[in-house]
Amino acid sequence: MAKKVFPIGSLDICLSNRCNLMCKYCYFDSINTGKPLFLTFEQIAKAFDLYIGLVSVNGVDKISFSGAEPFLNYPLLLRSVRYIRSKCAEKPEIELFTNGTFLSPVRVKELQGLQAKIVVSIDGAKQSNDRNRIFHKDPAASVFDCIMGNLRKLSKAQLGRMCASMTVTAQTAPLLAANVRFLREFGFGEVQINLNILEIWGVFKFIFALIFYFAVILIAANTMYMALLERMREFGIMGAIGLKPRRLSRMILLEGFLMSGISGIVGGMVGIMGSFYLKEHHIDLSRFMTQITYAETTLQPRLRSYPTLGSMLIPIVMITVLGMIVATFPARRLRRLRPVDVLREV
Ligand code: SF4
Repeated sequence: MAKKVFPIGSLDICLSNRCNLMCKYCYFDSINTGKPLFLTFEQIAKAFDLYIGLVSVNGVDKISFSGAEPFLNYPLLLRSVRYIRSKCAEKPEIELFTNGTFLSPVRVKELQGLQAKIVVSIDGAKQSNDRNRIFHKDPAASVFDCIMGNLRKLSKAQLGRMCASMTVTAQTAPLLAANVRFLREFGFGEVQINLNILEIWGVFKFIFALIFYFAVILIAANTMYMALLERMREFGIMGAIGLKPRRLSRMILLEGFLMSGISGIVGGMVGIMGSFYLKEHHIDLSRFMTQITYAETTLQPRLRSYPTLGSMLIPIVMITVLGMIVATFPARRLRRLRPVDVLREV
């Protein structure tokens, strides 16, 4: 029986969650935090063998090694690349992503000798690079100077076979053309441009929040007006037997405050518990969709939450405050009405 071959092309191997840099736009959410995690050679070889068993050597078009910083354990990286080459000969492209701070002519020679493509993350000239790329333990030192010091030791041929990977942010976008020219003139054979979509994600979050809070205002206003209209007769009678409109209005205001306060707190607690649950147990959509790679950033088909103090407290405060503001509208209406008008209305 013919072997079932899956149409999967690339394999990304992430060697650890540790990096000697701490870039401001780092896509790695657990970079240099929590427990240090490092793959072993046995784990890499096992994963690779399993993968090859699924896709067949001919189906593999690219194997990427990324970080956080794969050169932190260079012997492991070299041994893994050798292993993959021994199993796949020339076929798949092997791509190694590095921040360039551990490069040396010997290492580049060894890796390029195994037909591995080295991709160096560098955002262009010093001004652009050092704006976002900083050392984890020494933020004052220049990452650009460190990388350039290493790159200048390489031969022209070695550099020509390497690729520069630029991440463009809102601040460095105006210098994009100058930065690409700088890297090409320096000698990189290829320059990749990646947009920092995490910045755009901030705008998306803002738009989602606006839509969400607008919906909250509509629902709260509708609920409070309905509750007011349904009890107009009672309010009219209360006014007719002597309860002043001002006190009636205060009563409605207090009711609105309590409703929005309690619903904000209860809803917030449920949301916080849900967030912590989804932090540990993601929603797996891999049966319905594959990972999406855009601008060198990969969105996994697993939804996970990353609760922060701000993301938990802001919605609770906003819903409570918005509910209170909305409660003032029916209260103001009630304050203006005379009992006789109220009774005539119903
Ligand atoms: S070099 Fe890469 S992994 Fe390391 S901090 Fe920067 S973006 Fe993150």
